[in-house]
Amino acid sequence: MINYKSLKFKIVFWYSIVFILAFILIEIGIYLYLDRSLHREIDITLREEAFEFVKNVKVKSGVIFIPDSVEFNEPEHVYLNDASVFFRVFDGDLNLVASSKNLKEANFLIPRPEKPDIEGVREIEIDGRRLRIFYLPIRTPEGTYGLVEMSKFEGIVQVAMGLLRISVVLALLLAVVIVSYGGGLIVSKFINPLEQIIEKADKINAENLVERIVIHKNNLPDEIVKLINSLNRLLERLEKSFKQIAQFTYDVSHELLTPLTVIKDEIEISLMKRRKAKDYIQTLNVIHKQVNRSIDIVKSMLYLAKVESGVISVNLCDVNVAELIREVILTLNHKARRKSIKIRFDCNSVLILRTDENLLFESLRNIIDNAIEYTGKGGIVEIKCEKAGEWLKISISDTGVGIGADELPHIFDRFYRGRSALELNPTGTGLGLALTKSMIELLKGRIDVVSQLGKGTTFTVQIPA
Ligand code: ATP
Ligand code: MG
Repeated sequence: MINYKSLKFKIVFWYSIVFILAFILIEIGIYLYLDRSLHREIDITLREEAFEFVKNVKVKSGVIFIPDSVEFNEPEHVYLNDASVFFRVFDGDLNLVASSKNLKEANFLIPRPEKPDIEGVREIEIDGRRLRIFYLPIRTPEGTYGLVEMSKFEGIVQVAMGLLRISVVLALLLAVVIVSYGGGLIVSKFINPLEQIIEKADKINAENLVERIVIHKNNLPDEIVKLINSLNRLLERLEKSFKQIAQFTYDVSHELLTPLTVIKDEIEISLMKRRKAKDYIQTLNVIHKQVNRSIDIVKSMLYLAKVESGVISVNLCDVNVAELIREVILTLNHKARRKSIKIRFDCNSVLILRTDENLLFESLRNIIDNAIEYTGKGGIVEIKCEKAGEWLKISISDTGVGIGADELPHIFDRFYRGRSALELNPTGTGLGLALTKSMIELLKGRIDVVSQLGKGTTFTVQIPA
């Protein structure tokens, strides 16, 4: 059954319509051109004969007089055959004065002309045969005295035009069949891969997102190849997102399980028997710490989810970078002082940047906080900022524990904590750098890190200036 809504039907239908219209227009043009050319030949013959004839016609005292001339006896006026040219001469009142011999013998009648002073061509049909007639008035300077009528059957021209009409109709029918059938076959060849793509795409769901669309066929059109590649890229992104969601659920559950288990154990141990007040206080302190950690995790995850889903909008404003860094240092000064860590800040020029103040503040706070956290007592944290072309470069270096080459690729992953982290920062969540990276990407910037184990680490943040 034909599906009238299908792409295949629509392409074939419109392609056929355009083709048939073009075909009809070309054929009409050819037909009209041939018709005119062939008839012009007959008209020229009739015209020449008529003028020749009129030359011999005399008018005496208003009466037409036709001297017997060779013209009368020319074979085309005597014999009745395909080459016959008939003539008739009428006076001013359209009474027949003379006619060719062959017309007298003919068993057909040519209708009388309507008036004596017409000049030109006319065509009539006699028993299915087309007769071409040329009229030429007999004129003298005094007036019009009669009319010469020359006529000839179209004969071979009529047959040729008839044949042409039949062949055009047959060619058109044949073209319709070839165009629609052939067009259908060609379009099918290109549409079939599309149907295969739809079939394969239909079978892919959340459970088998690893599957890809593969069509085993050579010479696929470019557009189909592009479509397959684009769908496969989409599947790849979906698969990655699904994996990330699964990993996210796993990570959050896992990370929350630890403090919740500690809380549960502490409560259970406390409830085993009556205890002293100081024991309850100690238990409550542990619980408080674990609850805080859980809140930190949930808050960070919430913020990360907001950043990644684009819920957090970037509020651009002019930010004095040096001032912003000074504020970050101010919030962390206490922590640095406790570890006798010296913070050096070097930014000699006034750099005004159009960016989101809060996102930049939080990002730098996380990095500088880490630098203090993972640097031993008496260490140095150095912050520099400079403009490099289209970018503002902020670097944070420390003389801390450093990060091993095997750990470096993972430090931006959620919940990843380095080997030294547990000892130096036991309550950390491993979410700080994941958040920082997402925020910097939101600012269309980038973050890089170089580190040497035991010597120190340098983070570089680049923001479009
Ligand atoms: P939180 O930020 O919640 O306190 P965290 O610091 O462990 O936890 P991130 O800030 O994401 O988490 O850092 C991930 C890991 O990268 C850290 O655990 C640590 O091992 C390593 N790291 C980050 N910054 C530094 C640094 N300046 N020097 C050495 N190691 C670092
Ligand atoms: Mg951190």
